[in-house]
Formats: sequence, C-alpha cells, structure tokens
Amino acid sequence: ASLFAAVEMAPRDPILGLNEQFNADPNPAKVNLGVGVYFDDAGKLPVLRCVAEAEKQLLESPKAKGYLPIDGIAAYDKAVQGLVFGAESEAVTSGRVATVQALGGTGGLKVGADFLQRLRPAATVLISDPSWENHRALFTNAGFPVDTYPYYDAAARGIRFDALIAKLQAAAAGTVVVLHACCHNPTGCDLSPAQWQQIAATCAERGLVPFLDMAYQGFGKGIAEDGAAVQCFLATGQQFFVSTSFSKSFSLYGERVGALSVVCASKEECARVLSQLKIVIRTNYSNPPTFGAQVVATVLTTPALRAMWEKELAGMRERIKAMRSALVQQLQAAGVQGDLSYITTQMGMFSYSGLGKEQMQRLRSEFGVYGVDSGRICVAALNSRNIGPVAAALAKVMA
Ligand code: PMP
Repeated sequence: ASLFAAVEMAPRDPILGLNEQFNADPNPAKVNLGVGVYFDDAGKLPVLRCVAEAEKQLLESPKAKGYLPIDGIAAYDKAVQGLVFGAESEAVTSGRVATVQALGGTGGLKVGADFLQRLRPAATVLISDPSWENHRALFTNAGFPVDTYPYYDAAARGIRFDALIAKLQAAAAGTVVVLHACCHNPTGCDLSPAQWQQIAATCAERGLVPFLDMAYQGFGKGIAEDGAAVQCFLATGQQFFVSTSFSKSFSLYGERVGALSVVCASKEECARVLSQLKIVIRTNYSNPPTFGAQVVATVLTTPALRAMWEKELAGMRERIKAMRSALVQQLQAAGVQGDLSYITTQMGMFSYSGLGKEQMQRLRSEFGVYGVDSGRICVAALNSRNIGPVAAALAKVMA
C-alpha cells in the first residue's frame, strides 16, 4: 500500500474555502466580504505609494541576496520596537525587548508559541471566544491545550468583561493569554483603556503570560492609540509577548512581513531569550526573507516615506469608517429598524453583523454577497459601487 494510503483529507480552511466558492459563482454582481483584506474604493488591493517609492529606491541600487541574520534586519527590528513600544520607552532604551523579524503576524505567533512550548510545556493557552480562526490551530499545533476566555456578548453586542476577568482570575499561573491588541478579529469590539489596565493588572497579579496579537495597528484609532494596550502591559513591568503584522498596514500580504517581540525583565535576560528565539527560527526556516522587511524598514526610517505611510494608513482607516457610516445610513434608508450604532462603534476591518449561518448562506445564494458563516463581514471590502447592493441585500436578510 502507498505510504499515504491512510492519510485523511483535511477540512478546507473555512475562509479560503469561501473564496473558492466566490470565484466559482457566475453571478456578475457578486461581492466578496469574506477575507480580511483591505481593498480601495475601486475594489483593488492597494499598492501604497510609500511602498512603491521604497521599492524603487531599493531597486535603483540592487543588493546581493545574501542570507539575513537569523533574527532579521537589525534596522527593521529596531523600527518595529519604535512602532510597538515607542522608541523612547524604558523597555526599549534599556535593551530588554527582544525583537525578531518573522513571516507575517502568523510567523511571529508561531515563533513565540514554539519558544513558550519549551519554557512552559504544560501551560494552557487561552484565546478569546470567538477569535481569529488560526489562533486555536496554531497553538494546538505548537503542543498546547487551547481553551477560551469569554469575550463577545452577542445580545449586548459588547464584551463580557466581568466574565473575562473572572476567567483570568481563575487561571493557573503560567497560563498563556492571547489578546487582540486592537481591531478584534472577528467581532470589531475592542477593550477600553480602563479595561486593558485591569487585564494587565490581573495578568501581573496572577502570573499569566500575556501574548498580544497586533495585526491591525493603525486601522482602529491611529498608530499610537492602537498601541495603548501595549503601554498598559509595559506599565505593570511584567514580561509579555507581542506579535506584529504589516500585512494590512502596508498592504504587503504576500511579502510575509511581521515580527515577534518579547519584553524581558533585564537586558541580560533579553540576550538569553533572543538566543532561544533564534534556535526556534533556525530549526524552522533558518532565516527570514529580505525584500518585504527592507521595504518596511526603508519606509519607517525615511522621514518623508514615513509621513507618506502615516497619511496613507490614515486614508485606509478613514475610508473604512466612511463605509461603516454609509452602511448604517443605507440600512436605515432601506427600513432596517433598531439600533445600528454597533456598526460604527466596531473597530478595524470587520463587522460582526449579528446574522446567523442561515442568513449568511441566504446572502450568498440569493444576492451573491459572501461573508463568513459566523456573521463576520469585511467592511474594508465595501466601496462606493458595491455598498448599495450590499446594503439592500443585508436589509432583506435582516428584515
Ligand atoms: N492575527 C490576526 C488577528 C489576524 O487577523 C491575522 C490576519 N488575518 C493575523 C494574525 C495574521 O497576519 P499575517 O497575514 O501577517 O500572518
């Protein structure tokens, strides 16, 4: 028999599977609100001007493609620290943050998970209920039992904060807590600064291991504002992890640009942690790719390009907000009753519509509007042409 005779067919990735279904749909009016990707008002994946400019500069003086250091481009890692923690923050200036370049935000999570597995093999990992699909699978594959903490309150369209805190208070010391630093995927419901303070304090008191997933910095309220959660954890003085993704904020999805940062107690400890992160990387893929991180480092460290990026990022953020307001207006105009303010209060690329699986399926089959069965729609894929038909379809299904 073949070596692979007993290999079972794995289930399709639910969101990528939705894409395949979308591509096969002959409906000319179809709209894809499934994947978490930002499109511009023309419905296109944008090429940021700052990125095009940096690429041009890099190509004008082509560099040989040698191996990068295991932890990536030093200037890139430093720029990431500035963005995530603040270049002047005590943790950064005292050299107690270990930052490594990683293959997107997913790569940052996985390097962190593998390192944690060596350190705390018996720990449980807590993820939000609900969370990004890949959190559970990634930490399970890294060898951890994965459980959830209460998060979304469907009835109130808010956060079950007391239940969340109770779960953290009951968790064993050493439990890893994965938190969405901003723009929660899939619900769009973010914690307030006061709530972040309370979570950070609880983690410190209980000896939990916070792992912040920051995949949308700049898509919520602004670059610094979206980093508020990180500041709350810094203020407690505890050790914690932050994964960074530039997939969305630079529209560099396929270049796989991200990072992992680990905040340590001292510079000396940081050197030991970094040496272990390098072993994780070395034994997985040896060292990271060059181009995407060169582009991001160039943009972040060249003042004119940096200013251009901040403006372009603000443009994406504002366009999403405009689409949220327009969606509310059009739903109301189409006769949808009730409080729709949750659509404009939610942060980032997603809106949790509150629709159930059957309604989401009806949106697809009757109207060619593709969202995730959980009711998640990507607001960043709405534009001035498709919003009318989408609102009309939603209004029929919500009626
Ligand atoms: N975390 C969250 C919450 C995400 O939504 C995503 C991307 N959808 C990622 C991590 C992964 O980002 P990347 O594509 O950079 O690996």
